[in-house]
Amino acid sequence: MIVTRSKPIEEIMDQIDQIMDQKICVIGCSLCAGKLKTGGEPEVKNMIRQLQDKRVNVIDGVVLKHACSIESWESLIKEQPVISDAEVLLVMSCGIGVSLLGRLCDKIVIPALDTVSLGAALNDEILLEMCSMCGQCTVGFFSGLCPKSGCPKSQLNGPCGGSNDGECEVRERKCIWTRIYEVMEAKNMLSMLNETLSPTEYNRGL
Ligand code: SF4
Ligand code: SF4
Repeated sequence: MIVTRSKPIEEIMDQIDQIMDQKICVIGCSLCAGKLKTGGEPEVKNMIRQLQDKRVNVIDGVVLKHACSIESWESLIKEQPVISDAEVLLVMSCGIGVSLLGRLCDKIVIPALDTVSLGAALNDEILLEMCSMCGQCTVGFFSGLCPKSGCPKSQLNGPCGGSNDGECEVRERKCIWTRIYEVMEAKNMLSMLNETLSPTEYNRGL
């Protein structure tokens, strides 16, 4: 799941300040943004109301099934004809959907959300920083937990030494290495932590 947060309306207005007379269509995404309540139908409707209150020329709003996967521009406007009438697309999806729409059409494309993390939904809880797409997955050494994304310093071979009572010195949460140790101990896999891993080959992800 791509985790998004709503931008403050003031920041959105800054982006559309010069073009608020142009025809604007608000586009949501029912997949991750819908589940996170940042870009589903209620949020799109709410955004339209807020923009109309500020006299922005909103012509309509649509919610795509998945803004990150679109067959073609032609198929999209066949399904959602209002998009073709718009001059500006205000997109309430993750950055992938925004970028894809920016590539597909010659309209002005503006993000309404900030994309903050690759996360997971666990019941009602959203877990952040589950993966940072490094291109060389090594979580097999840590029973599935990822220190590259879970540690602010991406410490690959053990903790930085700054943790206090098992808490991270950078963020208010448990040090990922405390978690890794606990999980590996519970699974009787502590000996795997004796391995020293080589630096990540980040170019594998390119
Ligand atoms: S090791 Fe890399 S690919 Fe694997 S979960 Fe962590 S960041 Fe993602
Ligand atoms: S305390 Fe742990 S999670 Fe925080 S920066 Fe250091 S190693 Fe990373």
